[in-house]
Amino acid sequence: MSKPILWIVIPCYNEEQVLPITAPMFLQKIHTLTEKGLVSDKSRVLFVNDGSKDKTWALISDFAKQDEHFIGISQSRNRGHQNAVLAGLMEALHSGICDITISIDCDGQDDINAMDEMVQKYLDGAEVVYGVRSRRDTDTFFKRFTAEGFYHLMNALGADIVFNHADYRLISTRVLESFADYKEVNIFLRGMVPLVGFKSEQVLYERHERLAGESHYPLSKMLALAFDGITSLSNKPIRLITGAGIVVSIISFIGVIWAIVQAAMGSVVAGWASTICIVCFVGGVQLVCLGVIGEYIGKIYMETKARPRYIISERTWAPYERKYHG
Ligand code: UDP
Ligand code: MG
Repeated sequence: MSKPILWIVIPCYNEEQVLPITAPMFLQKIHTLTEKGLVSDKSRVLFVNDGSKDKTWALISDFAKQDEHFIGISQSRNRGHQNAVLAGLMEALHSGICDITISIDCDGQDDINAMDEMVQKYLDGAEVVYGVRSRRDTDTFFKRFTAEGFYHLMNALGADIVFNHADYRLISTRVLESFADYKEVNIFLRGMVPLVGFKSEQVLYERHERLAGESHYPLSKMLALAFDGITSLSNKPIRLITGAGIVVSIISFIGVIWAIVQAAMGSVVAGWASTICIVCFVGGVQLVCLGVIGEYIGKIYMETKARPRYIISERTWAPYERKYHG
């Protein structure tokens, strides 16, 4: 079997501080993997510029001029991490000259040395290899608590995701071909890749501190990602709402009977407090329920528009005439 061509797919958003440090590391990785005989020398490092506002794209273009192993594409504007990774994966698939992809963040947090084992697992027959964090020492207690809670909640709500796996994974182009048929606009790769199936393996790695620059995932974005992940993969919240509605209805029914009995016994006016409590409580529950249902309707709305999931405005290479949109 000829050696597989690997493309390392790296989303970058305002990363001018960290790219000059990590780009040579990725290049070095390609060289060591080639020397070990695991991948072909035609392997590439693909940077996806996610509409950065700093010098990121200029840096990427420079890298591409300096070494043919570097290539870059640029999204027409910032679309978020998931869409950037998707754009890179689809670029690799459509290039027609790539066998396996590994997606990884550009900040050096994920240990690139896990790639050797990932490729080895691919050579041994796995089509998807998930990078799984072995420890979370470098995270604050808060991040660890929220992140692990998130995985448990996701699984409880019916989204089948790999525990402590983020977006560091190997996917073969064979899997990407099937994955390309998942046309949804609300994408949550972690939950979608397991849906595609195929033989999968896991590789443990240690996650480090960011080498430079700052995280683009503050709590608000993390919550949004969690919420998106759940609502784009599972209908369980809607079912929970139905269940809650039934429970509240039963309680109200008991309350009504109780009120009638009280009235019949003549002890009427007392009860302002309990009335207010019930009104507020039921009002709150209704609002939350409407919000969750609204979230799903919003998702349906976006899906019916079927807008492109990414638009590539620039490339450091010119592989094909036609432009691909996701
Ligand atoms: N990223 C992106 N688009 C965005 C935000 C982030 O492409 O809108 C990239 C970013 O450049 C990095 C990766 O996604 O390579 C992960 O982001 P970050 O390190 O800020 O998140 P954290 O590791 O703190 O969760
Ligand atoms: Mg990071």
